Amino acid sequence: MFKQRIQRVAESLQFSGNDFIFVTPSADLKYLTGYEALPLERITCLAINAQGQAWMIVPALERPAAVAAHVENYDIELIDWQETENPYSKFMEAIGSVEKPLVNNLMWVEKAWNLQEAIGHPVQLANSVLSQIREIKSAAEVQSLHEAGRAIDSVHEQMHLWLRPGRTEREVGRDIADAILRAGHDTVDFVIVASGPNGASPHHEVSDRVIGMNEPVVVDIGGTMPSGYCSDSTRTYVCGTAPKQYVEYYAVLQEAQKAAVEYARPGVSCESVDMVARNILKDHGLGDYFIHRTGHGIGLETHEEPYIVTGNKSPLREGHAFSIEPGFYIPNKFGARIEDIVTCCATGVDKANNTTHDLVSL
Ligand code: ZN
Ligand code: ZN
Repeated sequence: MFKQRIQRVAESLQFSGNDFIFVTPSADLKYLTGYEALPLERITCLAINAQGQAWMIVPALERPAAVAAHVENYDIELIDWQETENPYSKFMEAIGSVEKPLVNNLMWVEKAWNLQEAIGHPVQLANSVLSQIREIKSAAEVQSLHEAGRAIDSVHEQMHLWLRPGRTEREVGRDIADAILRAGHDTVDFVIVASGPNGASPHHEVSDRVIGMNEPVVVDIGGTMPSGYCSDSTRTYVCGTAPKQYVEYYAVLQEAQKAAVEYARPGVSCESVDMVARNILKDHGLGDYFIHRTGHGIGLETHEEPYIVTGNKSPLREGHAFSIEPGFYIPNKFGARIEDIVTCCATGVDKANNTTHDLVSL
């Protein structure tokens, strides 16, 4: 699998007219080699040329970790550097001359600058090459995302155990974090418990605010599974009965989210999916309160291509995996969001999240 991915990168390099790509520890490196190297001050870097040859330079003390990750099984030549050596010139000696290099977008600036100096030509960003490959998920990746979806769904299904008036968001958040791990995730990536007016801030995390009766609470949670793939799902709860106006708005949001999920399919543009949800909220006077894009791609990272946003005219394709998460955020009052991860199949989308979309009364 990793050999195939490296070959696809080589083909993309040929297609884009570049001769080399350099990738430091990141989801990109993990995708191409399976090696989950730590991003440290000492450089670890994969180089692939347009002919499909690959090298990886690692600090000598990291060599056992790279070997344990089997990088040599994928025809990657491993080069190590000692503490007193210059890794950049050593790397260049091994790989030969470089004319038009790309570097992964999350490479530290320090490393990109040093590489550029060693190469003698300006480096360009590799995102166009890497994300085009990474954004189309294989059947196995789709399965991993659905497995992650089931795990996070099981946490939402237990929300009644933790979410109740009189507890703080932070207390509830801690219980949710424990449950995310118990559900099979390796890591907890984020826990948002946004009660009452905090719900109007889309990326509120948790606070010491005590959750009150009849207050809507936005719960957006996710983690990374042992497979490396991420979960991300939002549901909105209320302890007691939500205000009448809120219930009306929530029904509109539910309609908007459902319409976008039903509309999404191969061939329609990413921005048109956003418009479907946005227009319904607009038609009911909530347009100004929907203050973010409708969704983001997901895979080895929680946020990656494709982005479901105005301006992204790229068509959806089979294998795309992304969130559909419209919301409304009314300052000083309340907010709501409904978020599912979906994967694009031949006829539409399959949902990775399948808990109820209703405003859940606890
Ligand atoms: Zn999301
Ligand atoms: Zn989310």
